[in-house]
Amino acid sequence: MTNYHLALFLERFNEKGDTTNLLLKVENVSKRSSLDQFYEILSSFYNGKCFYCGSVIKKNNAHVDHFIPWSFVQTDQLWNLVIACSTCNLSKSDKLAKELFLNTVIDRNEKLLSIQELRKREDMQVYNSKKLKDLYHYSVENGFTEFWVPKKIII
Ligand SMILES: [Zn+2]
Repeated sequence: MTNYHLALFLERFNEKGDTTNLLLKVENVSKRSSLDQFYEILSSFYNGKCFYCGSVIKKNNAHVDHFIPWSFVQTDQLWNLVIACSTCNLSKSDKLAKELFLNTVIDRNEKLLSIQELRKREDMQVYNSKKLKDLYHYSVENGFTEFWVPKKIII
């Protein structure tokens, strides 16, 4: 994918989220509640365990995490969101997770796409695994060179 196409691709994500993102910057409360909607969807697609470290998480300790950092994507897209424990979410913060997790997100997204309701969502319609891989590598080329891993992985 050329940088030009990638720019177009990102633009398409961003134009949908623009107004929301502006509001999110202003008010943290709305960010929380907007991510809560994603939690409701994603909660059927994880086994109650943190996406990154595998520890069992209680609902009140579950965080919705942007796999590719929000500061890079600047929008909330279902295919880029995972449920993580608060420890992982807070320690990952604005960092990019190690590439091994990329395949796990891609597998999870395949599950999302197997549900007709979710396939129809605007954010899922612009998604495919190649684009996510390109986006991941593009974020590395653009300075996300510190690869985050959880402190302890429970298998
Ligand atoms: Zn975790």
